Amino acid sequence: MQIRCTNCHKPFAIGKETVYAALDAIYTDDLNHYNTQCPHCRRANRLSPKELKRAAPDWQPGQSSAEPAEE
Ligand SMILES: [Zn+2]
Repeated sequence: MQIRCTNCHKPFAIGKETVYAALDAIYTDDLNHYNTQCPHCRRANRLSPKELKRAAPDWQPGQSSAEPAEE
């Protein structure tokens, strides 16, 4: 997903794996947001679960690779 840094306003991309990891962390730890670091200025940017789910609409809570799939 594409993010625009709230500090330096430069765009940067985070991979789908990071989006999934962020959603897992939010779900597991009951967080309000996830912090990702801007590669340009190193400032943390808050990602809301809403934005993350838009980038990964097929993500489901508790479906992380840690648990074996039933099928
Ligand atoms: Zn930045």
